[in-house]
Amino acid sequence: MKLHVDWTACDGRGVCTELLEEMLVEDDWGFPVARDGQRSPAVPPPLEGAAKQAVDRCPMLALKLIAR
Ligand code: SF4
Repeated sequence: MKLHVDWTACDGRGVCTELLEEMLVEDDWGFPVARDGQRSPAVPPPLEGAAKQAVDRCPMLALKLIAR
C-alpha cells in the first residue's frame, strides 16, 4: 500500500503527522510530507493500521491508501 495526500483538500491540521510520525513530518506550513521524500510513500506493514486510522480521521478526507 501507498499513502496518497490530496493537496487540494488538505488543510494542514496535522492529524496524520501525529498518527504516522514514523512516515510523515510537517513542512514549514504544517502540511505533511513523507520522510522518504516520495510523493506517495509506501506504507510499511507494521504501520498499515495507523495509516488506515489516519485515513479515517483526516477531517478533510484528503488521505487515501492506494495499491502499490
Ligand atoms: S490529517 Fe488530512 S487535512 Fe490534516 S494534515 Fe493530514 S492530510 Fe492534511
